[in-house]
Amino acid sequence: MVDYLVVGLGLAGISFCEHLDRNGKSFMAISDNSQTSSVVAGGLYNPVILKRFTLAWDAHEQLTEAIPFYNAIERKLNATLDYKVPVLRRFASIEEQNLWFEAADKPSLAPFLSTKIRVNTNASIEAPFGYGEVLHTGRLDTPKLLSSYAHYLKESNRFLQESFSFNTLEIQDDSITYKGIKAKYLVFATGFGLHHNPYFNYLPLNGTKGELLTIKAPKLKEENVIKSSVFIIPMGDDLYRIGATYKWKDKTNTPTEESKLELIDKLNTFLKCDYEVIDQEAGIRPTVGDRRPLVGSHPIHKNLFVLNGLGTRGVMIGPTAAKKLYGYIENNMPLDAEIDIARFTKKHFKR
Ligand SMILES: Cc1cc2nc3c(=O)[nH]c(=O)nc-3n(C[C@H](O)[C@H](O)[C@H](O)COP(=O)(O)OP(=O)(O)OC[C@H]3O[C@@H](n4cnc5c(N)ncnc54)[C@H](O)[C@@H]3O)c2cc1C
Repeated sequence: MVDYLVVGLGLAGISFCEHLDRNGKSFMAISDNSQTSSVVAGGLYNPVILKRFTLAWDAHEQLTEAIPFYNAIERKLNATLDYKVPVLRRFASIEEQNLWFEAADKPSLAPFLSTKIRVNTNASIEAPFGYGEVLHTGRLDTPKLLSSYAHYLKESNRFLQESFSFNTLEIQDDSITYKGIKAKYLVFATGFGLHHNPYFNYLPLNGTKGELLTIKAPKLKEENVIKSSVFIIPMGDDLYRIGATYKWKDKTNTPTEESKLELIDKLNTFLKCDYEVIDQEAGIRPTVGDRRPLVGSHPIHKNLFVLNGLGTRGVMIGPTAAKKLYGYIENNMPLDAEIDIARFTKKHFKR
């Protein structure tokens, strides 16, 4: 008998397992590789929406929770995961510079937007209007987090690499049983895989496909993340990730030629050195129409829970959403109405 069975070991599942681990709860995690969102993610954490110069939802609280959370995982796993990298927003015009300064004057944004224009000194990039620097940003090495966390759980026999089979699940009033594992609670953190889950597939998880390229550009020599029509994310060794696309119809994890060309076209408008595309990856972001996570318990089976809908910002949202679910299950803390799946339950469970 364990306290929890957790299905899915992406950013959501890891965040939840980590809260369990810290609180001394026993658990078993199961995950496959059917979804790739957390593995392919750019891994950026950045509290500002750089299209409109507005603060992302709950960004202050999420950042305050997330950074120490990942730093504690780094110490536990003895791995470097968090890279403090400035994000520079390339200005396209004087008007954009002015909008930036207006935004930087607002008390909520002031801690995150530098008021000095950074002049471009990189001959490989065209940026005549310079950059605005976002403060307190960085990149989480998500592939490394996923592999090292799975390894950490494997070492203590708490991880099974397999697809969860719903036919094998037995639900009792106060526990669940799955292939000989008896657990008090079952938490699904399966990203876009939620659609195969007969208990929670009524939730409106839209999914937004995203693709990223990896390029080798020996002459670029850029150490900052550059945000223009696409992001340039430095990875070391002259490698950079370029992304990302947003597609709402295609729900596969397969890279496409169309997205590759779209990213190259956008990149070529401001990158002026030679480069070679050496890789392309795709994944489905677990996005929800109202842009809020999906957290809570099943309306009928009270020992089944969901942690999903991290959308385009899983790095920042994951630790806070997981903490709220943990508090809800263990300490009867009410969930905020805006993340509670109860907001969708009435419509689907008319009785
Ligand atoms: C191209 C791209 C770029 C992105 N860039 C960023 C970024 O820079 N910053 C940021 O914060 N976010 C970014 N995101 C978003 C971020 O990746 C997501 O918010 C986050 O990864 C979602 O995590 P998750 O754990 O909910 O889902 P997932 O990462 O999909 O993890 C779910 C896990 O559950 C497993 N699973 C599913 N079904 C089953 C089953 N039946 N049995 C067993 N296991 C199962 C899956 O295989 C997977 O391992 C990006 C996403 C994409 C696609």
